[in-house]
Amino acid sequence: MVSLGCPKATVDSEQILTQLRAEGYKIVADYDQADMVIINTCGFIDSAVEESMQTIDEALHENGKVIVTGCLGAKSEQVAQAFPELLAITGPHATQEVMSAVHEHLPAEHDPFLDLVPAQGIKLTPQHYAYLKISEGCNHRCTFCIIPALRGDLVSRPIDEVMQEAENLVQAGVRELLVISQDTSAYGIDAKYATRFWQGQPLQTRFVALARALGQLGVWIRLHYVYPYPHVDDVIPLMAQGLVLPYLDIPFQHASPRILKAMKRPGNQEKVLERIQSWRKICPDLVIRSTFIVGFPGETEEDFQQLLDFLTAAQLDRVGCFMYSAVEGAAANDLPNPVDEAIKQERFDRFMRHQQAISTAKLQCRIGQTMTVLVEGRDEHGWYGRSYADAPDIDGLVYIKTDQDMIVGNFVEVIITDSDEYDLYADQR
Ligand code: SF4
Repeated sequence: MVSLGCPKATVDSEQILTQLRAEGYKIVADYDQADMVIINTCGFIDSAVEESMQTIDEALHENGKVIVTGCLGAKSEQVAQAFPELLAITGPHATQEVMSAVHEHLPAEHDPFLDLVPAQGIKLTPQHYAYLKISEGCNHRCTFCIIPALRGDLVSRPIDEVMQEAENLVQAGVRELLVISQDTSAYGIDAKYATRFWQGQPLQTRFVALARALGQLGVWIRLHYVYPYPHVDDVIPLMAQGLVLPYLDIPFQHASPRILKAMKRPGNQEKVLERIQSWRKICPDLVIRSTFIVGFPGETEEDFQQLLDFLTAAQLDRVGCFMYSAVEGAAANDLPNPVDEAIKQERFDRFMRHQQAISTAKLQCRIGQTMTVLVEGRDEHGWYGRSYADAPDIDGLVYIKTDQDMIVGNFVEVIITDSDEYDLYADQR
């Protein structure tokens, strides 16, 4: 560590050094012994800038692996232009960003005898898939929801931290990452799309940039809780290119403009059908999953019919439905005209029958297709897995006829031979 500048910078250096030592890194006294150099720079006056630039030059020459932090790092473009070989550049007071860069370029070796926690953390999911939470909280105020009251406004995780976690998971054997949050497409808005560094490259804290970067990891990337904002259009070509699974989980919740307004749902709902059609033109394999609420206060038979008409027109692949129930503290509790419980149930049943027919017909079209399936396990009917069209726990399964033993977490190629309302049946190729 080379620490330049004022006492505030010194404290920043101390915090970084403390964290490094806490994680088992050793601090050494010269360039030769070091695996990496961190320079905490000053950018206050011209002479300080000059000293910082000289120090960076010297460290690159003497050692080669250099991270720059501190006040000069706030002018990252200027520094990157002068020294493109730097591993990372952060602004001042950025211990976490510096540590992310250290983890990326000089990962501490995992010692099973000393480390209680594996690099990828403790996971409750099977070894072959994992959830990747990219943000916490939500800026919307849907009237049926109390998440913003419980968890606050949107706070996005820095993109380099998310990427580091994703890489750790992939190195630990994860084959599928499920990107989750309250509002995935809003990722980075609160951080003003801050630029961070990942593998030496600048990367904006932004939904599409994240999808593209995750797509480089060579595993299935599945996007959940995406709202149909215009910039979601930019992720569809990534799906068509095979970087990200052609699967979008968009919780539409309703289709009647009157009910959506009462729900205070985000996004422009008016053009949703057009958007879906244009997405399918770009990426014909696109599978759309959604959830809906029936029996929301004030929902009339006409509103409900609009919802069924939307299902018919949108031909969504996977759909979940909930009967509205009041949540303590939700604004919707004060809305007039609650729907009678028996009517809610009747609408729920009609909704399910309606969507079942759509799902059955859509799955029938898969017969004869070759699909890649991630093997999930075995039950009394035999081996089963999931294709790109199936998220774990919420979507259907592909049952596989095979004489061979399979390995959970492996990808296999199958030919679809049969289907029902929600599941597919296949022969192993
Ligand atoms: S339903 Fe989703 S988008 Fe709406 S407030 Fe709750 S978390 Fe936010």
